[in-house]
Amino acid sequence: MLELHDAPLAPLTTFRLGGPADRLVTATSDAEVIDAVREADDSGTPLLVIGGGSNLVIGDKGFAGTALVVATKGFALDGTRLELAAGEVWSDAVARTVEAGLAGIECLAGIPGSAGATPIQNVGAYGQEVSSTISEVVAYDRHARETVTVPSAECAFSYRHSRFKADPERYVVLRVRFDLEDAEGLSAPIKYAETARALGVEPGDRVPLAAARETVLKLRSGKGMVLDPEDHDTWSAGSFFTNPILTDEEFAAFHARVREHLGDGAEPPAYPAGEGHTKTSAAWLIDKAGFTKGYGTGPARISTKHTLALTNRGAATTEDLLDLAREVVAGVRDTFGITLVNEPVTVGVTL
Ligand SMILES: Cc1cc2nc3c(=O)[nH]c(=O)nc-3n(C[C@H](O)[C@H](O)[C@H](O)COP(=O)(O)OP(=O)(O)OC[C@H]3O[C@@H](n4cnc5c(N)ncnc54)[C@H](O)[C@@H]3O)c2cc1C
Repeated sequence: MLELHDAPLAPLTTFRLGGPADRLVTATSDAEVIDAVREADDSGTPLLVIGGGSNLVIGDKGFAGTALVVATKGFALDGTRLELAAGEVWSDAVARTVEAGLAGIECLAGIPGSAGATPIQNVGAYGQEVSSTISEVVAYDRHARETVTVPSAECAFSYRHSRFKADPERYVVLRVRFDLEDAEGLSAPIKYAETARALGVEPGDRVPLAAARETVLKLRSGKGMVLDPEDHDTWSAGSFFTNPILTDEEFAAFHARVREHLGDGAEPPAYPAGEGHTKTSAAWLIDKAGFTKGYGTGPARISTKHTLALTNRGAATTEDLLDLAREVVAGVRDTFGITLVNEPVTVGVTL
């Protein structure tokens, strides 16, 4: 187990932001992960679990405790069943399942980070979410002090949320198991209209797996959503805000604000989100509130390719990023009466 003291955390995050950790431990086996967690818990030391650092906003002061990098490896296919060690690189695992001719996660290609973090916020994109294919999650339960296997039905998955995110001090994910589909080389039905359009098919059609993956990667690259160290538009955490889910009443009030602000015929994006709820688009709200692509003059700005990504142009601090995020939240609230919520996990700071 590799151990460093007063170790900078910024290089471990896709924002390249955040101060040092008192102690930084890298674990390469489940046993090492569990040992490191138990040691921290026994001594009452705060613990920060890090995968690929692609959904983390760490404060400039850093982390007063043990930061644990989960770097375990393991990709095991048994028929259509897949087991990934938490430290596996997610996008590589997706590529391997596509090569193996299995469907279910091909539209989640290009999402940065580790396999172990995917259940935390029920990672999703382009019409797929991991909750549809995860069968169970093996985790170390810090309360029970033992390894537990949580079936998918007990993971409380919802939009960018799960039982693991709701209870961040409790579970450290060790392994994630998936049930994929053998559709004879074809993808799962393409659900997302933009992907279907790009593939020249109708929503609900299946396409060759590789075509689905490559199309998603191309769409993502055009929006700065595939990591590229040379491209500051990707020095981000992807979407910085979740899409708001409104009750019917909230949506009616919002609709009235939209018409007041943008004219009588204006229609905000609206997607069904379960009984009595509607999801709208955070990117649309931000754009219509006046924060367009490339917004900002400081070292933290909105991506030039996607309104929903806040980015570090190279010399930003976490405070610069948070100032920009707060400005966007206040602007959207003043214009539309909706308070945006950050998607990435904040460490030692709040919006
Ligand atoms: C360019 C870009 C594009 C993105 N696109 C998408 C997208 O399309 N869809 C989407 O859903 N997300 C997207 N994201 C966000 C991010 O990639 C995902 O949330 C990813 O799953 C985070 O994985 P990670 O390993 O980097 O987690 P980290 O950032 O390291 O950690 C995130 C959170 O998970 C916890 N965590 C990490 N590993 C474990 C573990 N083994 N056990 C317990 N807790 C753990 C951490 O403590 C932290 O709270 C994007 C990010 C970027 C930078």
